[in-house]
Parts: sequence; structure tokens; C-alpha cells
Amino acid sequence: MKLLISVKRVVDYNVKVRVKADGTGVETNGVKMSMNPFDEIAVEEAVRLKEKGVASEVVAVSMGPPACSETLRTALAMGADRGILVETEVALQPLAVAKLLRALAEREQPGMIILGKQAIDDDMNATGQMLAALLGWPQATFASKLAIEGERAMVTREVDGGLETLELRLPAIVTTDLRLNEPRYASLPNIMKARKKPIETIAPAALGVDPAPRLEIVKVAEPPKRQGGRKVASVAELVEKLTQEAKVI
Ligand code: AMP
Repeated sequence: MKLLISVKRVVDYNVKVRVKADGTGVETNGVKMSMNPFDEIAVEEAVRLKEKGVASEVVAVSMGPPACSETLRTALAMGADRGILVETEVALQPLAVAKLLRALAEREQPGMIILGKQAIDDDMNATGQMLAALLGWPQATFASKLAIEGERAMVTREVDGGLETLELRLPAIVTTDLRLNEPRYASLPNIMKARKKPIETIAPAALGVDPAPRLEIVKVAEPPKRQGGRKVASVAELVEKLTQEAKVI
């Protein structure tokens, strides 16, 4: 079974994001970029399935500017077999990504597509769901456990107040949650090996998709500044502050 994994290049999770002065978005110039953490979990899960002999090939896809090939190299160093870069300077929104993934799914015929549950840059949490709808495939989002049994996948999902286990007919869409696994670090020999693995570059038009945005970002703003905390000298002072100053928000 072939697995298709999508990996997005996002601002590194350790970076404190800054809003652009004109309020049109987040500053990405000169900022460290990395693979979306939920996508690392997706790659790890796919590579484990290959190591277990359940999957035969792991194909990683990234969409965006040429620098996304670095994200693909990371996926290849973690163990993916080949990469596909859908190259565009258009700021891609979930529907465009889902349409591009549908076109690739029709071409590649994977048994499963694994995505992150959300990209940490815009927290859309939409692409996997849209893709499942476009393909008409079953979906299990927020997966914390995944097992393949023949033509079926058993997926445990993190839901409010507990866990839900779904049985899905393959091909299917799975989106990853944090507890699914702990992604490996790519070793130096594997980083070197990844340089020789193939990356195909393709334009959205070649997949028959117009990636133009459908949503307009009206404004991006910093959250309001929080006031600093204060230390109190005694319980009596705390009680006094709670009764005199504290407000229910
Ligand atoms: P989102 O719906 O934007 O929160 O993203 C959910 C998931 O869709 C991500 O974790 C990725 O697996 C995938 N995805 C979104 N945008 C891209 C992109 N530009 N390139 C590759 N994968 C993407």
C-alpha cells in the first residue's frame, strides 16, 4: 500500500511570531521555518507502517514556494521514499491544498493519505476534512492510534471527554493528533541519503487546479498585551486584592 503524506512548511514552533506592520499577515522574512509538527507525526507514522511491512512506499507532498523542498528533504531524511513539490507563489488556502491533493491522489492511487490535524501557522484544521469530502473517502481526524487490518484501518480518535475508535474502509484520510507518536530525529547518514532521493516539481496548472485564494484576510493583529502579575506579601493582602480589585472576566 502506498501512503501519501502532506508536509507544510510553517514558521518554526519556537519562533515568537510577529505581525507585519501593515496587518496583512505574519512576518516570515528572515524567520526560521520548519515542518509543521503534526506533519512530522504523519511522516513518522507512515515510516513506521513501512518498517512494519504494511506500507510499500511513502510519498511526501509539500505545496508552496521552492523552499518547501527543504521540508520535503526533512521528510525524506525521516524515511519517506520520494517527494512531490507543488510549486506556487500563491498563498494556498485549505480548499486549494485539498484540490491539489485530490489530483495527486487520483494520479498516485494511495491506500491512505495522512495529514496533520492542523497547520500551526493559521490553525485552519480544514484540509483533511475537505480532502475526504472531495474524494468521497472515509476520514478519521485527530488520530492518536492507527492500525491497518487488511483492507481496513482502525483509528482511535481524541474526542471531547475521551477516545473514539473508528473502523475505516481503505482508501481513507487520517489526520494526526499529538499523541499518535513521537517523531524521530533524522540521523546524519539519513540526511545525506535523502539528498539522493527524488523530488518531482509540478505546477498547480499541471494538476488542473486553480490555487487562487477564495478567502480574503481582512486583518491580522497581535493579541492584546497582558498586564504583568504582582506578588502579594501575605494571605491578608491577597484576600484584600481579591475582594477589592479582582474582576470576573
Ligand atoms: P490546515 O487545514 O491548514 O490546518 O492544515 C492541515 C494539514 O493539511 C497540515 O497539517 C498539512 O498536512 C496539510 N497542508 C496544509 N497546507 C499545506 C501545504 N501548503 N503543503 C502541504 N501540506 C499542507
